[in-house]
Formats: sequence, structure tokens, C-alpha cells
Amino acid sequence: MNLIKDNLSFNFKFILTLFLFVTLLYSVLFYLINIKILSIISFLGLFIYAISIKSIDENNYDRAFLLSHLHIVISAVLATIILGWDYGFYLIIIAIASTTYLNIFKKRIITYLLAGFDFIIFVFVYLISNVYFPKSAGDFAQIFYLSNLGFLLFLFVIIFKIYSIVNQINIKDLHKHKHELKTASQTDHLTGLINKRALNTILAKKSNKKITMAMCDIDNFKNINDKFGHNIGDEVLKTLAKIFTENTNKSDIVCRWGGEEFVIVATNTSRTNFINQIQNIRFIINQTPVKISSDQSIHFTVTFGISDSGTDPNKLTEQADKRLYKGKHSVKNCIITK
Ligand code: GH3
Ligand code: MG
Ligand code: MG
Repeated sequence: MNLIKDNLSFNFKFILTLFLFVTLLYSVLFYLINIKILSIISFLGLFIYAISIKSIDENNYDRAFLLSHLHIVISAVLATIILGWDYGFYLIIIAIASTTYLNIFKKRIITYLLAGFDFIIFVFVYLISNVYFPKSAGDFAQIFYLSNLGFLLFLFVIIFKIYSIVNQINIKDLHKHKHELKTASQTDHLTGLINKRALNTILAKKSNKKITMAMCDIDNFKNINDKFGHNIGDEVLKTLAKIFTENTNKSDIVCRWGGEEFVIVATNTSRTNFINQIQNIRFIINQTPVKISSDQSIHFTVTFGISDSGTDPNKLTEQADKRLYKGKHSVKNCIITK
């Protein structure tokens, strides 16, 4: 999963490092033809790309993209105005403007604003240096034109590369969201246990395997809620879920069936062992206090109905439920196995 993100960050950093060298190269070229202001602006790129590379490490792609984008546009605009249209720096504006379509920003509005900015600035530069104040081509116009054309082509290759990585990330995010939604739809938020829907799905897959089922219900839970409040009721539910998970086997399935009812399914244990296990759990429940204030705690009890062993989950659920009902109409805090 992180491989794609690492790949993206590596590629971005690689590209920014290349930009850094390109900007230094342009800085030297401008210096050699004695255009100091352009040389200095290009040289500033050194800091801009260093900050951008650091931003990638901090996972701030927006900042990295915006800084490098603006530096390139501003440099290209000034170079076109100072040197003239024939030097081909407008090609760089076109190239860099096309990177906005990568839609890299978290907020789409920034993409549109940046694309609009690039367009307006391009028209502005065109009017200034090609319509109103055209300059005759200088001595180095052709060399610069070719190197700018090279930069444009190089950027297009990069754009395709980034585009494919960004797509992979989008797909990965989609999978992640799908996974999160799936987990949320199968998990009970309060206790972290699986819910009834998830249990049914699991049991449907185990339809030819012998299982034993225990269904349980907290005794007089309504009283606990009424007396101590819903939050304490929730604490009781969480405590019970914890006792179940800590005292069952890895192969057992613990589920919050709904409300204050839980189901434990033994998939790999003999019925006798399972009953012993549930007896132990009931004992632990009786011994476990739930804190209701700094100096006060309460105890709660649970009644269990245990099914026979079998392969039909529906039948076993019904059987366990009937036995639980039987327990509820006797003494409660008991285990009914027949
Ligand atoms: P019995 O011993 O017969 O099971 O009695 P009981 O009071 O436990 O059963 P009853 O069905 O009358 O009450 C169940 C209560 O469980 C009612 C409901 O408000 C409470 N309950 C259900 N889900 C939650 C929950 O998520 N949190 C809390 N705090 N209470 C819940
Ligand atoms: Mg109930
Ligand atoms: Mg109850």
C-alpha cells in the first residue's frame, strides 16, 4: 500500500531535484549572457526546490507543487518579457500550465485558480512581448529556444509519469475507503466486536463445519441503565466484550448480536470444552467489577443458552436462543445447555 505513495514521493523528489539542476543551469546561462536579474531569480530556485523537496517529506504535496509551479511560471514570464518571445520561454509556461491538470491539490478550486492564473499570465506575456513590445531575436535566441523546447518535452514525459502514479493513488484511496466502509459495516462501534451481519456472513462460509453456539444476554440490564445511566451501561457492554475476547480461543467467534445480546461460536472446540469455557467466563463475569465512580463499582451477571453441536447456523441460533429464554425464566446468571 505504501509502495505507491513511496513511489510518488520518490518520483516527485527526483523531478524536483532535476528542476533544481535545471534552474541552476539557467542561472549560469543567464549570468553568462549578463542578464543578472534572471540569473538571480533562477538561482532562488535552489531554495524553492529545497523547500519543495522537504514539503514532500512532510507529505505536503500541495505546497511542493505550488511553490515549484509558481517559481517556474514567474521565471519564464520574466525571461519572456526581458529577452523577447523568440527565446521560447513561453513554451515553459505552456508546459508548466499543463501540470495543473494532474489535479494534485486537495482542494479542486486551487487547480482551477492556478490554471486560470497560468492562462491569464500567458495571454499577458503574449500581448507584451509579441504584440505591443516585440523584440528582435537576440544572439542566443535559438539556443534558448531549443533548450526550452527540450524542457517542454521533458515535462510532458514527467506529466505522464506522475499522472499514472496519481491514478494509482486514487485507486488505492478508493480501495482504502471501500475497506473502511466494509469494516465499519461489519463492526460494532461500541465494543469493537463483529456485528450480527458479519457473523452471518462468516457462518454462511462455514456451513459444512461443525460448530457450537452460545447466546447470552445481560441480566436486568435495563435496571443498570435506569439506575446508573446509559454511559455505565455502555461500560458494562465494553467490559463484557473484553471478558469474552480475552477468555475465548482464537478460533472462536465473538459477536455483539444486538443490544445487550452476544453470541460466541466455537468452531474448533468440543462441546464439553466449550461449556467449560463458558462456565469459566460466567465465573469471571461474576468477579469483575465495573467502576461507576472513584470509590464505587457494580457487578452484573449474564445468562447463557448453549446449542447442541451442528452445521446449521440458523437451527443452532434458534436452539441457543430458546435455551437462553429458558434461563431468563428461571434464575438468570446461569448456563442452559439442554
Ligand atoms: P433481562 O434480564 O430479562 O434480559 O432484562 P433486561 O433489563 O436486561 O432486558 P430488556 O430487554 O428489558 O432491556 C435491555 C436494555 O438494553 C434496554 C436497552 O435500553 C438497553 N440497551 C440496548 N443497547 C444498549 C447500548 O448500546 N447501550 C446501553 N447503555 N444500553 C443498551
Ligand atoms: Mg435482551
Ligand atoms: Mg437483558
